Amino acid sequence: MSIKNLGIIGGGQLGSLLAVAAQKLNINTIIYCDDVDAPAQNFCNKFIHGKYDDKIKMQEFINEIDLITYEFENIPYETLNEMNKVKPVLPKPSVNRLIQHRIAEKDFVNKLNIRTTRYASIESKSDMEQLGDFLPGILKTTTMGYDGKGQYPIKKIEDINNLNIDFSKGYILEKLVKLKKEISVIITRFENNSYEIYEPIENTHEDQILKHSIIPAQINKKIFDESKDWSIRIAEELKYIGTLCVEFFIDRNENLYVNEIAPRVHNSGHLTINAFNISQFENHVRAVCSLEKIPLKKISNAKMVNLIGNQIKPYRENFKLNENEFFFDYQKKEIKDKRKMGHITTLI
Ligand code: ADP
Ligand code: MG
Repeated sequence: MSIKNLGIIGGGQLGSLLAVAAQKLNINTIIYCDDVDAPAQNFCNKFIHGKYDDKIKMQEFINEIDLITYEFENIPYETLNEMNKVKPVLPKPSVNRLIQHRIAEKDFVNKLNIRTTRYASIESKSDMEQLGDFLPGILKTTTMGYDGKGQYPIKKIEDINNLNIDFSKGYILEKLVKLKKEISVIITRFENNSYEIYEPIENTHEDQILKHSIIPAQINKKIFDESKDWSIRIAEELKYIGTLCVEFFIDRNENLYVNEIAPRVHNSGHLTINAFNISQFENHVRAVCSLEKIPLKKISNAKMVNLIGNQIKPYRENFKLNENEFFFDYQKKEIKDKRKMGHITTLI
């Protein structure tokens, strides 16, 4: 079936950039989002505002489209599963259910004999008290976290007393990795053993929010190969269709760990728009819409800087870009602290 109208759930910057990529391939995009001010409405063909459990609004959305994909993982499984009965949802809802839960995700990765941080499920304060061995660590909500939201660094057990934590929500305690570096690998899988994979990207975070991404990553050959190999195995095991990102930690002894998987396009891959013949966004659209897979070609090394909060301001005010610089404004209505407002990619 040839896809003319692609439905995208979620209307942030990832949805916007997916819509731009789809347009290039002559595919219309219809975006569904629960935020009335979603910036992607400036980039898609049609925008529908509604909650993720609003059956009537969702039906309106389903009627407009041939196929559904999504730009973020925190969509209720039931919503995706119900939609999948009427129109295909890619990546599959079951993949999303697995990855949106930090414990299920890590169990899955470990079953593949791929290393993650040490972790334990936490359901009460007393669970914490038995896990002194995992400290210093980070306590994270098992679901719904992003950009460091829902995360609490815990150095010693007593730290818990200063936090107002509702343990009924479900938490995971992860041992803190003494980080040397963070990298990510983006892969777009089309079908069995058919994929395009980007080289590892080196990432720097500030306040648990991605700040810089750069290629080439300064890593040794073993980590270069291992990170790609693990990403391919993860994508194959999930029978994944579309673009997926694996985030990794490298510790001070050069051990590689999977941090988390994003079942979607990823902020660290924004530089693929300018640095490769086909971006992660175009590849995602190609894969979910069963279009041709084109071999990846790198055009240039690159560095991407996220513009967070007020950092966007000088760029909006008539900033002179050099020929090798590319500025993206997500056109978010309101500037907020810690909010990703845009990015700038420099070919280097
Ligand atoms: P999010 O879903 O918010 O991206 P992550 O688990 O990726 O959550 O955490 C965000 C960032 O916090 C990571 O990229 C890393 O810099 C830091 N971090 C998270 N967990 C650990 C850990 N176990 N050890 C060291 N650093 C961590
Ligand atoms: Mg992360």
